Amino acid sequence: MAFEDVKKVWLNGQLVDFDQAKIHVFSHVIHYGSGVFEGTRCYRTERGPAVFRLKEHTDRLFASAHIYRMQIPFSREEINEAVLETIRVNEFEACYIRPIVYRGMGTLGVNPFNSPVDVVIGVWKWGAYLGPEALEQGVDVCVSSWNRMAPNTFPAMAKATANYMNSQLIKMEALTNGYAEGIGLSPDGTVSEGSGENLFVVWRGRIITPPTASAGLPGITRMTVVQLARDCGFEVVEQLIPREMLYIADEVFFCGTASEITPIRSVDRIPVGSGGRGPIVERLQKEFFAVVEGRAPDRYGWLTPVGATVAAGGGS
Ligand code: PMP
Repeated sequence: MAFEDVKKVWLNGQLVDFDQAKIHVFSHVIHYGSGVFEGTRCYRTERGPAVFRLKEHTDRLFASAHIYRMQIPFSREEINEAVLETIRVNEFEACYIRPIVYRGMGTLGVNPFNSPVDVVIGVWKWGAYLGPEALEQGVDVCVSSWNRMAPNTFPAMAKATANYMNSQLIKMEALTNGYAEGIGLSPDGTVSEGSGENLFVVWRGRIITPPTASAGLPGITRMTVVQLARDCGFEVVEQLIPREMLYIADEVFFCGTASEITPIRSVDRIPVGSGGRGPIVERLQKEFFAVVEGRAPDRYGWLTPVGATVAAGGGS
């Protein structure tokens, strides 16, 4: 199991044992997908573990909840502190962090207003999302036969649990056909994103990513890549990307909290560029990992130190 090192889970303000972190089968979220969540990473740095862009992740969690009229019964500061405490109590140096806000057990109609809003923060160790070689060698991906959500159906700017049914269709189809990942198109046929990653192409010296209105999640790694690329002097633009640009681009890559920055070496078995990791994605990976691992100056204040670890068993 992936969770054997996990000692404690934060559940509505209490740190409970891993085995006790349970919800009832009548919880609204199980039946109607009524949840919003985050995925954040804590990196090992020379000065101890540090969470990457905690504030932005918590802000997006609150934005997702706001769209779905969910009132989170904690402040942003309380959630941020709870994230740090959950890492400390589990004594992790590096981990993935999963805050999730969902409608718990109340009544079981579609109407969610009678169900309480519950909050959980879980942490666990999670390595390279698309496999250990992916970061260096790149991944083989396909364009999915499933589109991303149409405008005004499922709000793509919310990181909602229900959106991931669409992601699962894209991911299962890709895996079944021997690809590491699938790319979803927007309903207009232009490129949106991967099932769990934003996407960039390098085309004629410019770095291009689809606008948020292309049914993509406003990714925090995406924002980071844009900033780091501009700092390196690259031109970065948000622009609609026709599907065929994926095949003729010089480079294509994914980015996301779990996948970090992952080169794409082929799309639909058509090699991208040289068919391996390109020079621009390699440069961006170098910049990114230097920042997240605390080897470069934290010039934007992106790292929040976790602080001293406390013995497992402490409450909040
Ligand atoms: N798109 C989707 C569908 C995702 O699930 C993720 C991962 N959260 C991303 C993009 C990347 O977002 P971030 O960089 O904030 O992790």
